[in-house]
Amino acid sequence: MEPTIISTDRLKAKPDETKLGFGTLFTDYMLNMDYHPDKGWHNSRIEPYGPIPMDPSTMVLHYGQAVFEGLKAYRTDSGAIQLFRPQANFKRLNRSSHLLCIPEMDEAAALEGLKALLRIEKDWVPRAAGTSLYIRPTIVATDPFLGVRSSNTYRYFVILSPVGAYYAAGFNPVKIWVTRGHVRAVRGGLGEAKTPANYAASLYAADIAHKKGYTQVLWLDGVEQKYIEEVGAMNIFFVIDDEIVTPALNGSILPGITRDSVLALSRSWGLKTSERRISIDEVMAAHASGKLQEIFGSGTAAVISPVGELKYGDQIISVGDGTVGPVANRMYHYLTDIQYGKAPDTLGWIERI
Ligand SMILES: *Cc1c(COP(=O)(O)O)cnc(C)c1O
Repeated sequence: MEPTIISTDRLKAKPDETKLGFGTLFTDYMLNMDYHPDKGWHNSRIEPYGPIPMDPSTMVLHYGQAVFEGLKAYRTDSGAIQLFRPQANFKRLNRSSHLLCIPEMDEAAALEGLKALLRIEKDWVPRAAGTSLYIRPTIVATDPFLGVRSSNTYRYFVILSPVGAYYAAGFNPVKIWVTRGHVRAVRGGLGEAKTPANYAASLYAADIAHKKGYTQVLWLDGVEQKYIEEVGAMNIFFVIDDEIVTPALNGSILPGITRDSVLALSRSWGLKTSERRISIDEVMAAHASGKLQEIFGSGTAAVISPVGELKYGDQIISVGDGTVGPVANRMYHYLTDIQYGKAPDTLGWIERI
C-alpha cells in the first residue's frame, strides 16, 4: 500500500548545517494516515507539512490518548541514507498503542511508508558530522467528543526534523539528581509506553533538577522509591566491579532500543552483563567501596550520555575520574560508527533507504 503523493512546488530553503539545534525545523512533507473503525488504517498519503485542523473537543486534547516514536536517519560518508533498527520502533509503537487502546498498524507497511517519505525528503538528511534527520511518528485520538472512553478515530503522522550533533560542545559527563518526592510511572501504569503522559509527569521534577543545577532526573520506582528505573528520558546503565548492570524491564521502564543494543554489544564483547533490580543504596554502597566505575544513560537522541556526578539527598558522589569511562566511550563510538556506516553492520541493525 504505497502512500499517495500530494506534491507542492513551494519548498523551504535548507538550513545551515552548522547551526542545527533540536526539533525546531521541519521538512517540506509529512506522512499521514487515518483510522476509522469501518476502514481500518487507510488513506496513507504524503503531503505538504502543515497544521492539523482540530475541533476544540478533539479527544487527544483532553485525555491525552496518544503515542509516539523517535528515531533517526543517518547519512553515510558515501551519501547513502540509513535507519537504525526501525522495525523495533514500529513494534514498540504497536505495543504503546495496545496499552493506550489505540488500534495497531501493519509494521512492515509503516516502515515502507516512512521509507517513501524519506526518499522524497532525502536532501533534508544533513551531511555534517554528528547531524541527522530526526523522525517522529505519532498517533493521536481524533473523535470530537468529551466523554471519557477510547476514541473511535485516529490520525497517524510522521514529521521529520534535521538536528544538530548532540555533543556539539564535546562528549562530556552530565550531573544527575535523584528525586525522592516524584515518580515518573508506576507498575501497571503507562511507564513502558512511549506516550505524552509520561513526559508530562516528568516536567515538575525536571524543573527542580534544573534549578539545582542538574541536567537530568534519576527516577526511582514508584512503589518503594528504592529501585532505579531511568534517567530523564533515557535508560540507565552502571558499571560496578566490572559488571554492566541495567534495571530489568518491569512494566514501568521504557524498553529502549539503544538499551537493547547496548546489552547486545556488551554480551557480544564478553562483558559480564545483567538486567536486574538495582537499588540506589547498592549504587551508593558501590561508590563507598570504590567499585562504582561508570554510570551512563542510553537513548536515540544522545546515544550514550555519561554521568559524572549524582546527588541523592545530602550526598553528592562523583563517578569515576570525571571523564567519560571506557565502557561508555566504547559503546558510543561503536554504535555511532554503525549508525553512520563507518563500521560494518555485523548485527543486521541497518536498513538502507
Ligand atoms: C524513548 C525513551 C527512551 C529511549 O529509547 P530509545 O529507543 O533508546 O531511544 C528511554 N526512556 C524513555 C522514557 C523514553 O521515552
